[in-house]
Amino acid sequence: MERVYNFSAGPSMLPLPVLEKAQKELVCYGDTGMSVMEMSHRSKAFEDIIESAESLLRELMGIPDNYEVMFLQGGASTQFAMIPLNLFTKNKKADLVKTGQWAKKALEEASKYGTVNVVASSEDKIYTYIPKLDKSKFSPDADYFYITVNNTIYGTRYKQTELPDTGNIPLVGDISSNIMSEVMDVSKYGVLFAGAQKNVGPAGVTIAIVRDDLIGNAMDICPTMLDYKIHSKNKSLYNTPPCFSIYVSKLVFEWIKENGGVKGIQQMNEEKAAVLYDFLDESKMFRGTVVKEDRSLMNIPFVTDNDELNAKFIKEASAKGFVNLKGHRTVGGMRASIYNAMPIEGVKALVDFMKAFETEN
Ligand SMILES: *Cc1c(COP(=O)(O)O)cnc(C)c1O
Repeated sequence: MERVYNFSAGPSMLPLPVLEKAQKELVCYGDTGMSVMEMSHRSKAFEDIIESAESLLRELMGIPDNYEVMFLQGGASTQFAMIPLNLFTKNKKADLVKTGQWAKKALEEASKYGTVNVVASSEDKIYTYIPKLDKSKFSPDADYFYITVNNTIYGTRYKQTELPDTGNIPLVGDISSNIMSEVMDVSKYGVLFAGAQKNVGPAGVTIAIVRDDLIGNAMDICPTMLDYKIHSKNKSLYNTPPCFSIYVSKLVFEWIKENGGVKGIQQMNEEKAAVLYDFLDESKMFRGTVVKEDRSLMNIPFVTDNDELNAKFIKEASAKGFVNLKGHRTVGGMRASIYNAMPIEGVKALVDFMKAFETEN
């Protein structure tokens, strides 16, 4: 069977050259005579893999030296607990902007360990926009300020030029669905984190990028495995890390480097997203659900005004090899996730199909 265009929100497409390389090396990695899946995480071969994954990530994202990079387990969802457990060092207080389900989950988890002040929310309009902030609502004594940088389910994002100005309070950003999709100034954040399975690699590894001064003051109740200090001190090898996921992520980083780095990828992502958004803006049948200025480059929800038509579209698209276009169960309609690995040809072919569908219906 041929490969389809997979618009899944996550786990999602990986670049074909990465899959092919992993396939080639699957049974025998280099001169080790074994698969990466079979080797000790303390072996020289694996040490080389994890070190080169980290240095590529640092180079591609421009991560300053005063930040630690960790390859963790537990998914982005475990970070919802790790962040308060490590950052509630003074007043056990955080500010948060509620822009969707993931922010809500982070809010609920952090509330177990301290107080979370919701500075603004876009829940009133089903999270279809990024709310404007009123600085007088910020807590001057917050330990951190939390945002979801790209909202996977609703298709909104913070522009990197319009991040909340939090002064000395560390900004924490969930970049699970837009890591390495656009250039980011890491130094504007105290913590960045991402589950790998959207833009980086297979599920199983979570990347945490944490500024030095935010490590080492975890709450007394913090479990060992959730303490940033343990993982940074042991270079993500305190216990067995998700070796194979880290290895494939390294291949993805190499692929990004070969494709112009994050800057080159961003340019492609902007072109890709414009193809679909331009069509949504001119179509008489389909429309995007998000306000224009907050549109995500990665996740594009859209609808027709008729549920039956939505269902028909999803079914026919799937038969033509455009799969996983069903919107999140809380939003309905459709959603095209067009992460780094989705080629522009996939988006153009989808738009051609949408045009034909519009004419026929
Ligand atoms: C997918 C996602 C998560 C949850 O990731 P897991 O790795 O499944 O825990 C959290 N935040 C955002 C923005 C996501 O897209």
